[in-house]
Amino acid sequence: MPAISHLFFTHAARAWGSAAGTGNDGVLVRKRGIWYNEPMILFALFAFLFGACMGSFLNVVILRMPKEESLWRRGSHCASCGTPIAPYDNIPLVSYLVLRGKCRSCGARFSAQYFIVELLTALVFAATFWHRFGGVVPVLMLGQYPAWAVLKPALLPWVADITLMSCLIGLTWIDARHFVIPLEITVTGTLIGFAVTAWYPAFRYEETSWFAIGAAGMAMILGAGLLAVVRWLGSLYYKREALGLGDIHLMVMLAMFLNWPEILLVIVLSSVLGSIGGITMRIIHRQGTWRFEIPYGPYIAAAGALVYFWGHRVIEWYKGLCGL
Ligand SMILES: [Zn+2]
Repeated sequence: MPAISHLFFTHAARAWGSAAGTGNDGVLVRKRGIWYNEPMILFALFAFLFGACMGSFLNVVILRMPKEESLWRRGSHCASCGTPIAPYDNIPLVSYLVLRGKCRSCGARFSAQYFIVELLTALVFAATFWHRFGGVVPVLMLGQYPAWAVLKPALLPWVADITLMSCLIGLTWIDARHFVIPLEITVTGTLIGFAVTAWYPAFRYEETSWFAIGAAGMAMILGAGLLAVVRWLGSLYYKREALGLGDIHLMVMLAMFLNWPEILLVIVLSSVLGSIGGITMRIIHRQGTWRFEIPYGPYIAAAGALVYFWGHRVIEWYKGLCGL
């Protein structure tokens, strides 16, 4: 740890100096002929490590939530031999590589899921941190502003980013395997998304909390309403559950993060992705009959993530096309 704290203070001091010296906002630091954001690299690394830990927790959620097991009561253990996993063998990302994905005591293979989920979550945390805090960290280091006024516009949207993405990663894996979207996940996402909406309305490009909550409500009525109609029509036509209740819960959660035009985009995009996925599965498995047991959740989740990050560009483009 001394090495890291030393690195941190050196970087903090250097960023402060460069920011104070250059007279600009200090976002860019020049070194060896290239411009880059030096303290941000270190902070993004912390975000990466935080994300890896969250990914590790998500793996526990993915493994235990469908089985209704407690997330907290029992420590990590090998699914094959039951041996408790020692803390030094439970380090996110590192342990999987060191042990080459095998249990130390019985040698059973651990699924690559553990590593993929940890890496994906870590990358998402770091990338969104970089995006949200790009201009904030150096400004905070200058110490000229009330810290919260500068921090809030970056921190609250980042909390929304990592909450939404963690929920989507967790429920995608669970739905793909068990055809169920746990209510615990969608409720957690809905509550945190609502809190950010109410506390920081600019997150939804609104001026007041009430307008932001109204926008969330409108997105929810549209998204969940449309899906409920599809579910009803599906059950009428196929005489079976065509769309799970979990998919509607997922839509309610997405509505806490997206406005109604983006929700429409999610519905269109998820049905396109779902059709592509369904046709691909049909070709791979050479099935003559159409499989209806394809979980729709992962497609809504994928569409939701894409629209959350890039949807506004599509909507701007569409508005321009219509001359709005
Ligand atoms: Zn084992």
